[in-house]
Amino acid sequence: MTGTKLKIALQKSGRLSEESNALLKKCGVRFNNGAGKLKSEAVNFPIEIYFLRDDDIPEYVADGVADIGIVGENVLAETKKDVQTIEKLGFGKCRLSLAVPKNFSYRSVKDFAGKRIATSYPQILGDYFAANSVESDIHTISGSVEIAPSIGLADAVCDLVSSGSTLFTNGLREVEIVMQSEAVLIAHNNLDGNSRKILDKLLFRIKSVRAAAQNKYILLNAPNDKLTEIIALLPGIKSPTVMPLAETGWSSVHSVINENDFWEVVENLKAGGAEGILVLSIDQMIQ
Ligand code: ATP
Ligand code: ZN
Repeated sequence: MTGTKLKIALQKSGRLSEESNALLKKCGVRFNNGAGKLKSEAVNFPIEIYFLRDDDIPEYVADGVADIGIVGENVLAETKKDVQTIEKLGFGKCRLSLAVPKNFSYRSVKDFAGKRIATSYPQILGDYFAANSVESDIHTISGSVEIAPSIGLADAVCDLVSSGSTLFTNGLREVEIVMQSEAVLIAHNNLDGNSRKILDKLLFRIKSVRAAAQNKYILLNAPNDKLTEIIALLPGIKSPTVMPLAETGWSSVHSVINENDFWEVVENLKAGGAEGILVLSIDQMIQ
């Protein structure tokens, strides 16, 4: 494997940059991403990082200029490039939605027929309207889509939304979700054997980081006479570790719980007689 480096494309600066860089760092890949850098080499992992505009990432990966990349599913769907989606990454979550001005009396997607819709996603929106048998007039604009209706450029918009506050500020109301999106790891279709080996190594680390982010490590003390019920409340991946405390009649219980059930589990444990509950973040979880 000597010499081969996996080339990864990340967004240079934008909503995906920070978390893309952080993910690599949590995978133990050390590199310098100082301001204005276009390219960086990891010091302790056979990987080379290219910092690019997100819109260009699918094409670079499809052409093999980069071997892999991190990009939003929305951009991937819009560019329709032939690449493999390797793994969902759980950040950059948003939705591509149709929104109308407050005074637009909206009932169904058919109301978009004959209307001018401003968007940066003409391909996705075109497919969506075709699937719904709606003919509308799609205006492609590259930024600040949300102001198009107020300046008379469009009757409605199709734009990315996360909280919805930008739409609200611009007097728009979200009426249809066209697609849900999050950041994904994509790869060139025909990676050579050595590049594939490096990707598998990185992917193993990414999965460990992702699993860790979804779980918490929990420690608690329980009176021995309540131990059975308390253990039953812990939906861990394996049965919990139970150790006697120095104080007779008490045990310490350790387990891993899913972040989603976390508050409910903690409340039930407390009600069940658990004391001294500690919940810790996990850095990596090797499966
Ligand atoms: P670039 O300069 O790289 O072209 P950009 O302005 O096109 O950047 P950003 O606004 O940084 O892109 O968004 C990058 C990606 O972040 C989006 O394509 C989308 O996948 C994701 N994203 C998550 N939440 C939002 C949101 N509320 N608005 C826009 N994009 C979001
Ligand atoms: Zn972009």
